[in-house]
Amino acid sequence: MSTLPNCPKCNSEYTYEDGELLICPECSHEWSKNAAEANSDDDVLVVRDANGNILIDGDNVTVVKDLKIKGSSSVIKVGTKAKIVRIVAGDHDLDCKVDGMGPMMLKSSVVKKA
Ligand SMILES: [Zn+2]
Repeated sequence: MSTLPNCPKCNSEYTYEDGELLICPECSHEWSKNAAEANSDDDVLVVRDANGNILIDGDNVTVVKDLKIKGSSSVIKVGTKAKIVRIVAGDHDLDCKVDGMGPMMLKSSVVKKA
């Protein structure tokens, strides 16, 4: 019998299989086996916006709060549109092209999918 992954919600080790689903008896969280395998792949960078939606290269986003730009007096206003050029690892994980500003690194936590 293969080892099942721990519950992603409560980290319980008592997960069990039900067809294509994995089920946690402790918090009754259910998730698909395939998703669990995809998530265990460290090469895949999963970046979520302020609402928890997964962001991908090429997504259009809007800024959800005013952002001061370090070393400048400019501010990116809430509601400013941006396009994700690519997603990178790190603190500022979005390499974006911001409307009226040009290329800029943003945090995924300050944008939402447009
Ligand atoms: Zn659980």
